[in-house]
Amino acid sequence: MTLREIRLFGDPVLTTRSDEITEFDDSLRVLVEDMLETMDEAGGVGLAANQIGLTRRVFVYDCSHIEDGLRGHIINPVWEPVGEEMQLGPEGCLSIPDVSADTQRHETVRVTGVDVDGNPLAMVASGLMARCIQHETDHLDGVLFLRRLTPELRKEAMATIRTSEWFNK
Ligand SMILES: [Zn+2]
Repeated sequence: MTLREIRLFGDPVLTTRSDEITEFDDSLRVLVEDMLETMDEAGGVGLAANQIGLTRRVFVYDCSHIEDGLRGHIINPVWEPVGEEMQLGPEGCLSIPDVSADTQRHETVRVTGVDVDGNPLAMVASGLMARCIQHETDHLDGVLFLRRLTPELRKEAMATIRTSEWFNK
């Protein structure tokens, strides 16, 4: 397995829509393994392929600290809200270090997609896992969580980014 470099805010790949995956070969399996390892190393609960510079529709997740077995990957994810309840809570992103802000998301979603073998998968998730699904699918659409913030919080987040060491390197 190989650690991949995490792309940071400002990199155009993060605002690029990823393409559906149509080939399920060994390189895809390696990619998913690498993404899981990269996410673990960075201490994240999710990582989308654009974050390592690849515009392919796959993300990995790990919410196993909340519920056993809640770790894996989803290829070509599509989600829809279940019910009308929303959640407001702190959200961060491995591509935007040191920034965390209250972000509104659906409380419960149903996601479908496929696994590395091309087998269909589906999951209903709430709380952090639901937040993760929405955040990571946004990445695959080229959308960062900053776009989901209130104007005031976005302004604050941008100010933090502009003064960050990583942004000014
Ligand atoms: Zn992110």
